[in-house]
Amino acid sequence: METFVVRRKLDLGFEQRAEPKLANSRDVKIRVRATGICGSDVHYWQHGGIGKFILEQPMVLGHESAGEVVEVGKDVEDLKIGDCVAMEPGVQCRHCHYCKTGFYNLCSEMKFAATPPVDGTLAKYYILPSDFCYKLPPSMSLEEGALMEPLSVAVHVVKQVGWQGSLTDKGQRAYRRLYSCFWCWTCWSTMLCCG
Ligand SMILES: [Zn+2]
Ligand SMILES: [Zn+2]
Repeated sequence: METFVVRRKLDLGFEQRAEPKLANSRDVKIRVRATGICGSDVHYWQHGGIGKFILEQPMVLGHESAGEVVEVGKDVEDLKIGDCVAMEPGVQCRHCHYCKTGFYNLCSEMKFAATPPVDGTLAKYYILPSDFCYKLPPSMSLEEGALMEPLSVAVHVVKQVGWQGSLTDKGQRAYRRLYSCFWCWTCWSTMLCCG
């Protein structure tokens, strides 16, 4: 299948990869239809890494995606072939303290799409556990579905900042700036969505 990879710093291109197979009975296979380009994708392209995550081999980019379910494992009950889904790109271990206490975003075993050495979603097909797929309502496009990942990041950050009714005027201005900054970032990501 066709994939879009970063081979090393400033070296992008299309490569053929083997089509992925369901790894277990609760997985689904998704025909990826829309993907946003994140700042991290740009970093891997321009700098060959981000902090401790360094490219050591070609990696498929992309993690803000939506697509159509084309195959389901035998134990998947909540999705069927033809469903359109937003894709959650980080799959955790499900067993560590953080996973068991509901903070799976902190799991040190997280496998996050397009973070070395894990391949990303800018590929024809991608495999995910069914509970990492969010069925889109008919009114929502696949491009809007791809926006759900960066949108959730923005919503989480705004929630972390928290609204304090007692903020000073200056504090409220800073809060509004931060809020609009994240919304702009989210919209920018949407505009770069590609099929
Ligand atoms: Zn991102
Ligand atoms: Zn874990």
